[in-house]
Amino acid sequence: MSIDFSGNNAPLVEEEPLVTTSLTREDENEYSLRPKTLKEYIGQEKAKGNLEVFIQAAKMRQEPLDHVLLHGPPGLGKTTLSGIIANEMGVNVRITSGPAIEKAGDLAALLTNLNENDILFVDEIHRLNRSVEEVLYPAMEDFAIDIIIGKGPSANSIRLDLPKFTLIGATTRAGQLSAPLRDRFGVTLRLELYTPEELALIVTRSAGILDALIEREGAMEIARRSRGTPRIANRMLRRVRDFAQVVGDGVINKELADKALTALEVDYLGLDNIDRRMLRAIIEYYSGGPVGLETLAATINEESVTLEDVYEPYLLQIGFLTRTPRGRCVTPKAYQHLGIAVPGGIPPVMDQLTF
Ligand code: ADP
Repeated sequence: MSIDFSGNNAPLVEEEPLVTTSLTREDENEYSLRPKTLKEYIGQEKAKGNLEVFIQAAKMRQEPLDHVLLHGPPGLGKTTLSGIIANEMGVNVRITSGPAIEKAGDLAALLTNLNENDILFVDEIHRLNRSVEEVLYPAMEDFAIDIIIGKGPSANSIRLDLPKFTLIGATTRAGQLSAPLRDRFGVTLRLELYTPEELALIVTRSAGILDALIEREGAMEIARRSRGTPRIANRMLRRVRDFAQVVGDGVINKELADKALTALEVDYLGLDNIDRRMLRAIIEYYSGGPVGLETLAATINEESVTLEDVYEPYLLQIGFLTRTPRGRCVTPKAYQHLGIAVPGGIPPVMDQLTF
């Protein structure tokens, strides 16, 4: 199997906060931590079980795997899974992303360069533009593309056959995919946030690859604070390893992990400054909610997409936030965590404050 990242020009974030689920410069070398087989891929049992069957069936029929749509928050292992599928199928994978494919011609070039049964992985597939998406429909359905030659009345359309391939689309927002595109995927798999136990296994495995000495409780401490996300767990592991080498004896234990992560302003549940600012803003300016996402984002000067994709999934999962048709509300649990008295009964709804 070969993995080609050349088409992947997903922007890397400039600052490198610990909690972000976007790729940072430090994560560029995360390739070495990526599991290569389904066996090594920890957790996601449901998705893995289904994939195992589909891969085996496709191999028995000597056909490419049906097109697969992977959705779930960033950093949960969608790119990793596409590499694993390629590995298990014994084919190559070419990795690109929705925003990187600007023109229909870019996609045509990618598709015509694939070998039989290869995999094309398109990250952030919900960000493909319309004209590119339209090239994808016949490609997915009939393994062919229609190319227009010439302009105006003399323009001609010719049909070009493609090798049979598998498209793996990844998205954080399945709801934003157009219906015709969504319908063309034979398999849709949703990745869930990981449990602390699963993350502890991932941290221990990564520590082994990085030659870092880690105790079970040390791995668990990092796991508990990585908000269900392997990318964050691996990033925390690297930073805690630095602390272990410089201020400790090189071994990552519970105490050291706690010290390091507290110094990095990640609390015992994995919440960072932005989580706390977000929850506090809802409490202090909007009496606990409901408040619309855009208003909230403007209040704390963050991008609404970041709040929705990166921060909200975990706050919803741990029951600190609820989503209502009228906006986001903070729960009594969040008040308690922040050390703020829970107002009697349900927090009153206030009109948006001007300040
Ligand atoms: P996504 O494409 O969903 O943003 P990635 O596939 O890039 O996420 O995964 C981020 C990192 O997390 C990878 O470097 C990989 O090492 C690690 N990872 C993700 N899922 C798993 C898993 N199930 N088991 C072990 N490591 C994982």
